Amino acid sequence: MDIRYIDTRGNTDAPLKFSEAVLKGIAPGGGLFVPQELPSLTLDEIVALADVPYAQRAAEIYKRFRVDFDDEKLDELMSQIYSDNFDTPEICPVEKVTDGMYVLELWHGPTSAFKDMALQCLPVFFSACVEKQRAAGGATNDYLIAVATSGDTGKAALQGFADRDHISIVVFYPDGGVSDIQYKQMTTQDGENVCVYGVRGNFDDCQTSVKRMFGDVAFNTRLLEENNIALSSANSINWGRLLPQVVYYVSSYAVMVKQGAVKAGDPIDVTVPTGNFGNILACWYAKQLGCPIDHIVCASNTNRVLTDFIETGVYDISDRPFVLTPSPSMDILVSSNLERQLFELTGRDSKLIRQWMSDLNENRRFTLDSKTFAALKENYRCGSVDSETCLKTIREVFEQHHYMLDPHSAVAWRVAQENKGDNPMLVASTANWAKFGSNVYRALFGIESGDALPSELDGLTDVQINRKVYEHTQVSEIPAALDVLDDKPVRFTEIIDGDVEAIENSIIAFSNCNS
Ligand SMILES: *Cc1c(COP(=O)(O)O)cnc(C)c1O
Repeated sequence: MDIRYIDTRGNTDAPLKFSEAVLKGIAPGGGLFVPQELPSLTLDEIVALADVPYAQRAAEIYKRFRVDFDDEKLDELMSQIYSDNFDTPEICPVEKVTDGMYVLELWHGPTSAFKDMALQCLPVFFSACVEKQRAAGGATNDYLIAVATSGDTGKAALQGFADRDHISIVVFYPDGGVSDIQYKQMTTQDGENVCVYGVRGNFDDCQTSVKRMFGDVAFNTRLLEENNIALSSANSINWGRLLPQVVYYVSSYAVMVKQGAVKAGDPIDVTVPTGNFGNILACWYAKQLGCPIDHIVCASNTNRVLTDFIETGVYDISDRPFVLTPSPSMDILVSSNLERQLFELTGRDSKLIRQWMSDLNENRRFTLDSKTFAALKENYRCGSVDSETCLKTIREVFEQHHYMLDPHSAVAWRVAQENKGDNPMLVASTANWAKFGSNVYRALFGIESGDALPSELDGLTDVQINRKVYEHTQVSEIPAALDVLDDKPVRFTEIIDGDVEAIENSIIAFSNCNS
């Protein structure tokens, strides 16, 4: 029997199969799908994963989760996914940077951010789920993936879903809230079934409106009846994005054992640069599967809502400014996947979750009960890093270790150092430095994050600034797909309002001209 999915707000009476949860994305009532039970692996089984290619490790974890695809199909899909679209056969290597400090490089995929780890996988499975539904004589509607992005998800999702049958994708990013490289990556995307909009407002506005649209029953009904289209999600609210992320934590433990970084069975600590809590939650699930992970450390930038939450048990955005930082993919105040974590930590109490989520919606804050707060503190450590310290860290790590961190990974590195104990520390590195090259330039040349770049850079694009950085460092080449971005034509230039009506109208306009 396969493992079925329930949701965090208790609205799923008949638990769904994996393929159904993937196609739906979000549960009715706004809850998130979670597996009804979790599998477990023995230490020997985990360690043995290092002896097979990454694709097989992924297939093995999916088999343990008893997803509703047969073993051969899983092997086939995974070997198609984790192949030469990544620039190393290791897929996500673990690099030793200095004694006791290891970096898990999650950015070797086609868009140079960790989102590829899941968004090369989810679209392939999404297509397989659509096929499966059709083959079983189920619904024959098409799907439209609506994505709110702080920059990296957008491109990775476009790349993964471009030109897939029966699926189209619309991406919404905060206008002015993404880097030049991220902007060009998204707006130059090829494919007949893709569309990209800038949205006035910040990422939270954008994400909140997209989530509201998912919950707008009348709108969803109309889209289905008039356009034969169901909405779905490629954000980390989709379980199909979380599961591939669980794989790389289990995999890296095995790799660290094989590399001699840790003795089989001894624990490691992991630090994750966190925004929507998807990456770090995957780490927590990996620990539940049996991976010897001791401390899980949540790293925040100046938008330290999660750090404050872990320290106080109060999630409060009622009076918290949204700050733009050198690590824009972590500029998030409403952290979606926290809902899954709280569901697990309360012993799956959907009533409490509904209460907290409605408090958050109405009062912009909620307070944990003492038992859940204690569980949260037991499961997580945390820390936050301001923008200056982030940039200083990039420079220090380059100068001391000749290793290039992007700003997100630098936030994690710094918090990891502060939390380093006796266990080996694994730092999740979520982007290649060249995705955020102008901030890396600032870091290396000591230019404060508010100050102007030197005049010799006037008029240069981020692609050109990247080349200046590389001339200086000669460490870690610029990924080819980023280096050619200036030569590609921008296809999408429209900027829309951030309210749910504007988002819905753009979806209708796109669906009408696409059908
Ligand atoms: C998305 C992203 C993050 C945050 O990951 P979450 O899963 O949302 O917590 C961190 N760094 C980079 C570079 C990202 O793209």
